[in-house]
Amino acid sequence: MTNMIEQARSNIQQLRPYQPGKPIDELAREMGLNAEDIVKLASNENPLGPSPKALEAIQAEFAELTRYPDGNGFELKKALCEKLGTVNYKIGPEQLTLGNGSSDILEFIVKVFVSAGDEVVFSQHAFAIYALVSKMQGAECIAVPAKDYGHDLDAMADAITDKTRIVFVTNPNNPTGTWLNKTELSDFLNKVPSNVIVLLDEAYFEYVDEAEYPNGIDYLAQYPNLVITRTFSKAYGLASLRVGYGISHPDVADLMNRVRPPFNVNSMALAAAVATLSDDEYVDASKKLNDDGLKYLIAEFDRLGLPYIPSVGNFISFEIPAEKNISAADVNQKLLQAGVIVRPVANYEMPNHLRVSVGTGAENKAFIEAMNKILG
Ligand SMILES: *Cc1c(COP(=O)(O)O)cnc(C)c1O
Repeated sequence: MTNMIEQARSNIQQLRPYQPGKPIDELAREMGLNAEDIVKLASNENPLGPSPKALEAIQAEFAELTRYPDGNGFELKKALCEKLGTVNYKIGPEQLTLGNGSSDILEFIVKVFVSAGDEVVFSQHAFAIYALVSKMQGAECIAVPAKDYGHDLDAMADAITDKTRIVFVTNPNNPTGTWLNKTELSDFLNKVPSNVIVLLDEAYFEYVDEAEYPNGIDYLAQYPNLVITRTFSKAYGLASLRVGYGISHPDVADLMNRVRPPFNVNSMALAAAVATLSDDEYVDASKKLNDDGLKYLIAEFDRLGLPYIPSVGNFISFEIPAEKNISAADVNQKLLQAGVIVRPVANYEMPNHLRVSVGTGAENKAFIEAMNKILG
């Protein structure tokens, strides 16, 4: 019998699928627990539930389910242009690329610019999708050692060679929650050759309040090689619908639209995204819940003697130090038995850490109570 695995392109043979957070129903089956008793803090989802405006907008789309969605996403692009433009810089629809999640945009940018044997650069502890989509294309991945868990931008600039096509920068970074300030970002952009794409992943943009946190859009006019990605999966609470977008120079958007599958964003996702974009009350409430939750978790980690990486996202990675006499993997297993799902990050070269998403007050408390029991 022909071994079909051996028939695949060699770089695909070496790929391992993305490991998502464990779904609630799966843990319920495995542990014989009730799904309602399980707390999932593993995928940086918005714990508030969707915006009521999104639910209304989705319902209004039901009657049109037989029709293909608007493949150009006219209404969503219009709403994004109104929302994202700044006093100094207007955004036009020709600069936007819509994705089935922002992960889609990451795949498009690699398909457009990277050939087999080319190099891409990202930081150690960077989002797993960068390596996945790059290896799919046969690229060489250069992971630059992190500095205090964050990006070492000087070292990343030094890692650029004649073969480099894309540098991925994540601000703030997942799973570490570290962030880059305006000076660090602009110094870096000045160093990157203009023929190398800088993919600035701002999946957690809406959560960050730091005065020195840069808005990538402010740099687009000066750097046509800059591509920004954002998503409706996190602060906008629409992870299941899969909708994200890229903001770039119009030529780059034109190229990405050539590889974008037709109708990659469905009509309910489009409608829900437009509705949530105008729901400031929802996003403000999500941020407030997150700020309160982060404060609570940090205080509890201090009390439990667990070091953590300060985070500006809707998640935080904490360490199980050696003196606790239990490994992070075992803590994770015991949390699962208690019906709490967090994210092991050993595959991000952080074997002694776990990442927990910020939940509702009750969810955060359930997680901490389980930790109290596990650590005695
Ligand atoms: C969650 C996340 C995304 C967004 O993924 P979607 O495909 O938009 O759901 C992108 N980048 C990072 C770093 C993330 O953590």
